Amino acid sequence: MPSKTCLPIVDEFGFFEVRLDSIGGLGAHLAGQILGEAAVIKMGLNALHFSSYGSEKKGSPIKSFLRFAAPDRQIRSCSPVERPHLVAVFHDALLKTTGGLDGLRKDGTLIINTRQTLEELKAFGLPGNCRIYFIDALAIAIEEKSRVNTAMMGAVTTASGFLAPDAVLQALSETFAKKHPSAVVPNERTFQRGLEELELVAEPSCDVIEETKEDDMPLRPSPKFGYLTAPIGGCITEAGSSYTRDLSASRSGFLPVLDVEQCVHCGMCDIVCPDLCFVWKQETSASDDALIKFRLEGIDYYYCKGCMRCVDSCPSGALTRQAEEEGFAERHRVVMFPEAKQ
Ligand code: SF4
Ligand code: SF4
Repeated sequence: MPSKTCLPIVDEFGFFEVRLDSIGGLGAHLAGQILGEAAVIKMGLNALHFSSYGSEKKGSPIKSFLRFAAPDRQIRSCSPVERPHLVAVFHDALLKTTGGLDGLRKDGTLIINTRQTLEELKAFGLPGNCRIYFIDALAIAIEEKSRVNTAMMGAVTTASGFLAPDAVLQALSETFAKKHPSAVVPNERTFQRGLEELELVAEPSCDVIEETKEDDMPLRPSPKFGYLTAPIGGCITEAGSSYTRDLSASRSGFLPVLDVEQCVHCGMCDIVCPDLCFVWKQETSASDDALIKFRLEGIDYYYCKGCMRCVDSCPSGALTRQAEEEGFAERHRVVMFPEAKQ
C-alpha cells in the first residue's frame, strides 16, 4: 500500500525509533505488536517490532522496541533501540530501576503512566530538553475494565505525531476480535481515552525542570563483561536477589486485602503466593510450650504483584480483591525484612 505518511524525524538510517519500558504482565509486547502492524498493514510504512524479556515471570522488566521507516527504506537492524525518539514508561516506579530514560534523544518525547506530579517525578532525572507527557493509564484501565497497554497505545499514537488513530484502532480491534471478542469494546474505549487524556506537562523551556543543554540522555552503560572478559566457567560474581525488588509496578490497580478476624491461619495463601508476600508470627501455645503456632500477620505489599492467587485460594474469605487507593499499600504493608533498604 503506498503511504503518504511522513515520519516527523528520523535518525541517520532513516528510522523513527520507539522504546516501551514496562513490566511483564502489563502488555507492552502486545502494544508494540499492534502499533507495528498498524504502521505496516494500515498505513503502508515499514516497521519492525520485537521485545526483550527478563526471566519469564510476571513482574520482570521488559522492553519492547519499534523501528519505523518510510516504505522505500528497508529495516534490517534487529538490535535493541538504544537512542529512541520516543519512550513510553508503563509505570512511574520503573523510573527508579530500569534505565528507561537511557539514550532518549534531545527534543524527543517521553510518556509516563503516573498519578504523580512533574514536581514529584523530577527527582528521577527527567530530561529538560524533551516533551514530557503524563497519562493516568491505570485509572483509565480500571474504569474501562481493560488493561494499561491499550491506554498507552493511545498515548503513543497521539504523541508520535504520525501514527493514524484510525489505523491503530482498526489493528487493535482486529487483534482483540481474534483473541478475546468480549474485550474489543472496552479496549476500543480505553484506546480512545488514551488518545484524548494524554497531558503535555513539560517542554524544553518549562519552569519545573531545568533545561538540559547537553544532547541526548546518556546511553545505557555497557555490560561489565563481554565474551572476551567474562569469568571462566560462567561464575556468578555478583549474586542477585528479589529481596530488593519492588513489584508494586506489576499490580494492575487491584491488591489483596486481609481481614485478620476472618483468617483461620491455614497457610493456603502462602502456599500459592509466587512471591512469598505473607508475613507470619511464631507463637508458643499457652497450654503446651512445645507446641509452636504460626499466625498470619499481614502482607508485604512491596513484593505483591496483584496476581490474586491468594484470594482465589483462601477458604475463609479473609482475603478479598480490592481496588488499590493511593497510599493504601504503604499504610497497610507488614514489612517482611525491616533491615532492607526499600
Ligand atoms: S488462606 Fe485465608 S484463612 Fe488461610 S491463612 Fe491465608 S488469609 Fe488466612
Ligand atoms: S496477590 Fe496474593 S498471591 Fe499474588 S503476589 Fe500478591 S500476595 Fe502473593
